[in-house]
Amino acid sequence: MRRPWLAANWKMYKTVPESLAYAQELWHLLSDIKGWDQALDLAIFPNALALWPFAEKWAATAIGIGAQNLDPGTEGALTGGTSGFLLREAGARFVIVGHSERRKYFGETDEIVRTKTEAALEAGLGPIVCVGESQDERRQGETLKVVHRQVRQAIETLEPSHVRRVTIAYEPVWAIGSGLVPTPEEVARVAEAIRADVADLAGSEARDQIRILYGGSVNDQNLLSFLDTPDVDGALIGGAALNAANLAKMARRIMDRDPLMKSGQ
Ligand code: PEP
Repeated sequence: MRRPWLAANWKMYKTVPESLAYAQELWHLLSDIKGWDQALDLAIFPNALALWPFAEKWAATAIGIGAQNLDPGTEGALTGGTSGFLLREAGARFVIVGHSERRKYFGETDEIVRTKTEAALEAGLGPIVCVGESQDERRQGETLKVVHRQVRQAIETLEPSHVRRVTIAYEPVWAIGSGLVPTPEEVARVAEAIRADVADLAGSEARDQIRILYGGSVNDQNLLSFLDTPDVDGALIGGAALNAANLAKMARRIMDRDPLMKSGQ
């Protein structure tokens, strides 16, 4: 069974002390939610500067730690670069790849996203590959076409055993930070299409194992409407996860949804 996953993308917010204070508060709040660590995965994606101190304190706990970006390669004369290898050494276990803000503001193409996905896997990180259509593409009825292209470009060169380690986050660009969300039916249609693409590229085992997240203006009120969609396993959360109490509330919503979760079954 695929475990539900809450992934908190802090973007370019929070100093190192603020990051550590958040984790402390989150840990305290989670300790009131019986069995959460047996039933769901939860990961924080802080600024890269906070990774090392964050991991030193929290790596041995059930709070997962990831980076928001990586540069391909291992090490070398690449001024300003941070490789997957360095991130992993600093404590990251996951990395976000191809977030729409990186595609938009840093010129990341599908080709670059593919290279970064490969580099993440080589470094032993679990990549979360973000895909999603713009508002214009949506209006033109091109959602599935765009997602299909982005998914294929990111994973088509990977071995099936590597594909299984990838997570795909469906994040419609127009929904990020806007307060707007697609309907659960729209998300279901896209998630189903992503699984079909994965099956086609890497087989049915990969289709069944890969996790798909929804991201874009998720909050504790709408979270379950997306998670109740059969092909969606969790959420990538930006703004609403900048507050530890909100993230803990979301974890509690998942635990309260299904009494079996409480016993970790
Ligand atoms: C994100 O940054 O990946 C995101 C989904 O942001 P928000 O939740 O703020 O829309």
